[in-house]
Amino acid sequence: MMYNKYSSTLFTLLFVIVLGFIAGCGSSDSAQSNAKEPSEENKPESSETGGEVNIYTARHYDVDKELYDQFTEQTGITVNVVEGKAPELIERMKREGASTPADLFLTVDGGILNTAKTEGILQPIMSEDLDKKVPNDLRDKENHWIALSTRARVIVYAKDRVDASQLSTYEDLATDKWKGKVVVRSSTNLYNQSMLASFIDIMGEEQAEKWAAGLVANFAREPEGGDRDQAKAIASGIGDVAIMNTYYVGHMASSEEPEEVKVAESVGVFFPNQQTTGTHINISGAGLVKHSKNKDNAIKLLEFLTDTEAQTKISQANYEFPVNSQATLPELLQNWGMFKHQKIDFAKYGELNPKAVEIANKVGWK
Ligand code: FE
Repeated sequence: MMYNKYSSTLFTLLFVIVLGFIAGCGSSDSAQSNAKEPSEENKPESSETGGEVNIYTARHYDVDKELYDQFTEQTGITVNVVEGKAPELIERMKREGASTPADLFLTVDGGILNTAKTEGILQPIMSEDLDKKVPNDLRDKENHWIALSTRARVIVYAKDRVDASQLSTYEDLATDKWKGKVVVRSSTNLYNQSMLASFIDIMGEEQAEKWAAGLVANFAREPEGGDRDQAKAIASGIGDVAIMNTYYVGHMASSEEPEEVKVAESVGVFFPNQQTTGTHINISGAGLVKHSKNKDNAIKLLEFLTDTEAQTKISQANYEFPVNSQATLPELLQNWGMFKHQKIDFAKYGELNPKAVEIANKVGWK
C-alpha cells in the first residue's frame, strides 16, 4: 500500500510539472485551459481572445497577408483565409448556405462582386466609417460590397516608335491607323470582358461590336499570354500599342528581373478617352457574406483595410489606386497624374458579361 500511495503521489507531482511546463510554453491552448489557476503570464494573449474573421478570397497578393497580420496584431482578431478562384468560391458559399464559415468575400472585378450579390450570398454592410471613406461610386447601391482599390486598363505604347500625341481613345485603336500594331490578351480574360461590357454600356451594343471588330482587325498577333506579356511584346517590337492594366507596369518597373525593368522603362502609359468618356477602370473589393457569424469583426477588418495607412500600403505594394483619397500614391502613380475615368455602375460588368462574351466570339477575338 505504501508503495502504491507513494507512486500515485509521484505521478500527480509529475503530472503537475509536465502540465506547468506545457502551459509555460504557451504553445497549447488545451494545456492552458486544463491548468487550474493560470497565472498572469499563462493567460492567453489578446490575439487568442479577439475572436476571428474568415475570408474567402480570389485576391492573392503578399500585401493582403501583411495587412491581415497587422490587423490581428492591433485587434487580437484572428484572420483565417481560404484562397480560390472567384466563381468557385461563390459556388462554395452557395453550397455551404447558412453553415458557411465565410464572413467576407474578396475578389477583383466589379462584375463578380455583383454576381455574388445577385446570387444572394451577400448582405448590406452597415458602417458610417466606410460610408465616409469609400466614395459612393465605389460601393454597391445597397452596400452589399465595397471597393478596396481601383485599377485602370490603359494604352501602353513603345516610347521609341509611338509619340503620346498620336494616342487619344480606345476607339482610335480600332481604326486603320493601327493596322497590325495592337496587342492584347485573350477575350476569355475577365479584364477584357469587363472592358467590353463597359463599352456596351457606354456606346451601345452595335458600336461596341464595331469597336471590337476593328480592334481584332488591327491585331499584331493572335492574343496570347497575360497583361505583362503584352508589354513584353511591345518592347520586343511585335506590336506598338497594348491594352493592359496599369499596375503591371508598376510591378515590372520594380521587378527583380532586369528584363522586366527594361520592358517597363521602354514603354509609356497613356490614359485614353480623357476628352470623352474616360479611361476604363475596374475594382477589387469585398462583400459581407449573408450568413457571416463574425459580422462585427468583418466590418472592423474592412474599416482597417480602408484606413489611410492600409490604403497607402496597398497602393505602394501593388500599384493599385486607393479608394481612400487620403492615401499616399507611390511615385510612379503620382507621375502618371490624375485622370478622368469612366462614369460607370460596376454592376453592369456582371449584367453585360454574357453580351460581351458573345460579341468577342462573334468578331473572332480569341
Ligand atoms: Fe491582374
